[in-house]
Amino acid sequence: MVKETKYYDILGVNPNVSEQELKKAYRKLALKYHPDKNPDAGDKFKEISQAFEVLADPKKRQIYDEGGEQALKEGGGDSGFHNPMDIFDMFFGGMGGGRNRGPRKGKDVIHQLNVTLDELYKGNTRKLAIQKNVICDKCNGRGGKEGAVQKCGSCRGMGVEVHIRQLGPGMVQQMQTTCRTCKGEREVINERDRCKKCEGQKVAREKKVLEVHIDKGMTDGQQIKFSGEGDQEPGLEPGDICIVLEEKPHNVFTRKKADLIYNMKLDLIDSLCGFKRTITTLDGRVLVIETKPGEVIKNLEYRAIENEGMPKYKSPFERGRLIIAFDVVFPENNFLPTDKLNKLRSILPPSQFSSQLDNINEAEECVLHPYDPNMANSKGQDRYHERHQVYDSDDEGGMPGGAQRVQCASN
Ligand SMILES: [Zn+2]
Ligand SMILES: [Zn+2]
Repeated sequence: MVKETKYYDILGVNPNVSEQELKKAYRKLALKYHPDKNPDAGDKFKEISQAFEVLADPKKRQIYDEGGEQALKEGGGDSGFHNPMDIFDMFFGGMGGGRNRGPRKGKDVIHQLNVTLDELYKGNTRKLAIQKNVICDKCNGRGGKEGAVQKCGSCRGMGVEVHIRQLGPGMVQQMQTTCRTCKGEREVINERDRCKKCEGQKVAREKKVLEVHIDKGMTDGQQIKFSGEGDQEPGLEPGDICIVLEEKPHNVFTRKKADLIYNMKLDLIDSLCGFKRTITTLDGRVLVIETKPGEVIKNLEYRAIENEGMPKYKSPFERGRLIIAFDVVFPENNFLPTDKLNKLRSILPPSQFSSQLDNINEAEECVLHPYDPNMANSKGQDRYHERHQVYDSDDEGGMPGGAQRVQCASN
């Protein structure tokens, strides 16, 4: 039981969230509320960053769970938050910053691309239309005719105007404001000499279609980089465009790393007497599975088919497993006429647990009422969730410090 849920609420997750889900939640929200994408979102980006910074650090998360925000403040040591931009850059492996060494570089741009599990299984090429600034080809990025650009006379090329106000004898106040003539650009272009195409902006907005190659086995959160495809700006090396893949949930298969999980409902009769069933794979092949004679499949049991899971990235002939998770569906009440029950008893293995009836004559009779733990307690986890935690536990750990660094394929 955690003391506060504010940070969890900000990221839209439950307090029992796994590290993997936490990263996913941050990735989605950070991309959505990044000031470049959503300049009007106010403090939202910062809040997301701070919540993530605490919850991604196991030590801080524990302190927060036990004592809330107050405990974090009192905790001392490494208190305070990092710059949300630094957290973002670290998470996306240095993307999005433009604070790189080397020649001055324009901003990197990150786009999210929703992909289906089928696309990640079979591979696909997607066309993505983007808008970007390119150097105006009419004026070669000068903004006007050769020699048209002149130093702003109003501010003498400083970009700011300095106002001095006399407050009293010997007391002056100096104020700086952005130059109104050049709007802080430090230079002006004569109206007549201004480039007609870009209107002196030096760059023009252009639509460009990127071909995004989704390779077999790529994963949720993987980045595909287009070097130098960011906005162009005179005197700057353009930044990169990075596409972050967002895997959409599939309605049949659940992916756990290289494995695929398939939930198969099984009638009690089939679980006891055997069955033959088919599964259609993500590339449309049909697999047939069959139990051996006499084999019993218990509720919540698993079976696996080797090499029918997700292909491995860069080595697509190697594949993970297809794991079948069985849900045995029991018959409803009174499915069997009471006079037939003895017949069933004679076939089924004898009872192991209910043969003893100690002091039955003195016992009190009780009524069995229906009870649903999920209804009685909202915190109750459903069995479906519990059984899959087995697979969540082996997800990689280690944030922050070792922020999630995803492999970046170059196009
Ligand atoms: Zn000026
Ligand atoms: Zn131009």
